[in-house]
Amino acid sequence: MELLKERILKDGKSFDGGILKVDSFINHQMDPILMKSIAAEFVKRFSDLNINKIITIEASGIAPAILVGLELELPVVFVKKAKPKTMQDFYATQVYSFTKDRTYDVCVSNQFLGEGDNVIFIDDFLANGNAALGVRDLIKQAGANLMGMGFIIEKSFQEGRGRLMDQGVRVESLVRIDWLSENSIEFVQTVDEE
Ligand code: 5GP
Repeated sequence: MELLKERILKDGKSFDGGILKVDSFINHQMDPILMKSIAAEFVKRFSDLNINKIITIEASGIAPAILVGLELELPVVFVKKAKPKTMQDFYATQVYSFTKDRTYDVCVSNQFLGEGDNVIFIDDFLANGNAALGVRDLIKQAGANLMGMGFIIEKSFQEGRGRLMDQGVRVESLVRIDWLSENSIEFVQTVDEE
């Protein structure tokens, strides 16, 4: 997605160690106009699927997911990173966070995810795939069908894509970063852009 690449080059901050900060338009301040284009691109890429629900994980996946849900007129469920006291019946698993270097419990109520649901998962970043694999586990526990996973930014030099594809998951990333270091970002050239 050309618009997104341009914005990352203009406003993203890259660091040695493979971290990209996009705090001025995705992760802290958000650009709703860009987010609308991001959602439209996800809708286009998954247009061959018959889904009835979007799933994401708090917090940064919620904005793109809700706009996809708005466009498709479908409900959006976000996986929670802490179990509310009032939640009784839920599916839970553990996820290791690359950015925070800790493991946390994630959960989703069985009221909002179950057999017969055909879902796509939307999130901001794909790095090592831990968050995505955790959500896949919840979807499996619920007996729902995972039809695909969409990421705004994939860091292709980390393991996530490979781990998801090994599990037979369809992955759609709007931009793929081949390499990044301090003040340098290289994108994977995709076939349709060559
Ligand atoms: P994974 O579970 O795939 O290893 O990491 C995915 C999650 O970690 C994303 O939802 C995102 O919140 C965070 N993350 C991983 N790498 C980066 C990064 O380079 N920049 C930012 N802003 N978040 C990241």
